[in-house]
Amino acid sequence: MALDTHGQQQNLIKPPHVAIVPTPGIGHLTPLVELAKLLVVHHNFTITFIIPNDGSHLAPQKKLLEALDPQAISYIFLPPVSFDDLPDDVMVETKIALTLTRSLPALHDSLKVLTESTRLVALLVDLFGADTSDVANELHVPPYIFFTTSAFSLSLIFHFPHLHETTTCEYRDLPELVQLPGCVPLHGRDFMDPVQDRSNEAYKVMVRMCKKYKSAAGIVVNSFVDLEPGAFKAFKEQGQGLPPVYPVGPVIKISSADGFEGNECLKWLDKQPNESVLFVSFGSGGTFSQEQMTELALGLELSGQRFIWVVKSPNETAKNANYFNVQGCEDPSGFLPHGFLERTKEVGLVVPSWAPQVKMLSHQATGGFLTHCGWNSTLESIVHGVPLIAWPLYAEQRMNRVLLVDGLKVALGVRSNDKGIVESQDIAKYVRGLIEGDEGKLLRNKMKGYKEAAKLALSQEGSSTKSLAEVAQVWKGLKI
Ligand code: UDP
Repeated sequence: MALDTHGQQQNLIKPPHVAIVPTPGIGHLTPLVELAKLLVVHHNFTITFIIPNDGSHLAPQKKLLEALDPQAISYIFLPPVSFDDLPDDVMVETKIALTLTRSLPALHDSLKVLTESTRLVALLVDLFGADTSDVANELHVPPYIFFTTSAFSLSLIFHFPHLHETTTCEYRDLPELVQLPGCVPLHGRDFMDPVQDRSNEAYKVMVRMCKKYKSAAGIVVNSFVDLEPGAFKAFKEQGQGLPPVYPVGPVIKISSADGFEGNECLKWLDKQPNESVLFVSFGSGGTFSQEQMTELALGLELSGQRFIWVVKSPNETAKNANYFNVQGCEDPSGFLPHGFLERTKEVGLVVPSWAPQVKMLSHQATGGFLTHCGWNSTLESIVHGVPLIAWPLYAEQRMNRVLLVDGLKVALGVRSNDKGIVESQDIAKYVRGLIEGDEGKLLRNKMKGYKEAAKLALSQEGSSTKSLAEVAQVWKGLKI
């Protein structure tokens, strides 16, 4: 935009402004909201969230956004896109990416307005948003990506175009372990879901998206150097071919804005001994078949350990049935084993649908977390020093499990039988091992080490604080 001298002066006194575009899923919006607060409080930015609308009920998103200071952070929802043409079994990742690509014209218009009304210095999209780069470039706004998961996964994204061109089989059939630079080796079967079937639309989406990553102006990663030193070092060494990478994490939800303060589970936790309770939760979207649900219930009971379990209704077809609609169930007695609630009432608490997870993890009574390994859950556990039982379900969670179990050694990994079911006896063994076994002690100590490292990374002179300051400087210097 050409400005006259007066216009340039006007623009100079405006605070630098960033447009943030999350893709669907509360797990994407939450860390972006926390990052936005950091940019406002520590670096004097103003922010507009531009939210692509997948047509689902967006109540949790609205609640999160309404709690923000409207002077500093505003938001707009784009018109809902339609998925009527898609088959029923479309993968979540395809739907997430399409929500964005189908919103590009509306996004273009909103961004254009911002270029005229604010000192817009960057467009920050989350990990599925790389397709926005053309719109951003057209409007001369530098496109940045906020990578909401590990550097390990980012390394796979960078290498994926090469793997795609040099292999023909499905990745689960690769005979050798794959060694990404600076990372723990992994099997192809542990790659993220959308690359597991070359004939699926989601695979094409990933090929296109991964190629676009290299043309981002920079990538801000929700991880920290001391958690994944090898991967971050390798990004630096690869130099020219890659955009600058800024590790700014762990960026997690700090205070609960979900209205659960002082609720039943926290009161229950207050009465339990220190580090004695297993928190059991599978993110915003995770669901189990009825058979698996029964095994999990029986396993928890068999373990004899204290637990809080956030339950959602079973689903026979998908492991992420609740992803687009964060909701669960009101009365779980219909799908839990007969008498389970009564038999476990002295040691266990079953919470339907949703619990204030960060508060539960920060509670002194919590001694372990049985998790689906979503990256937010992972970071929240690290920040609070809670060791894990890793039970990945969907997305890139198997990669997170490899990192947590084999790399960081802060988690026990679950194993399933030939039918893909994790059996109750095994579950009981993991739970006892984590809460009262010697192995659990080792994992807890390791986790406490990472808790300290995370605290250090976020301290005034810490690596993540400096890295965020660096990207803020770049943004401020880009357009004045
Ligand atoms: N969460 C919560 N209560 C619940 C379930 C989830 O507060 O009962 C929050 C959790 O603290 C985390 C997010 O929802 O911040 C889930 O993100 P994650 O990346 O772990 O998994 P996803 O839901 O994206 O699969």
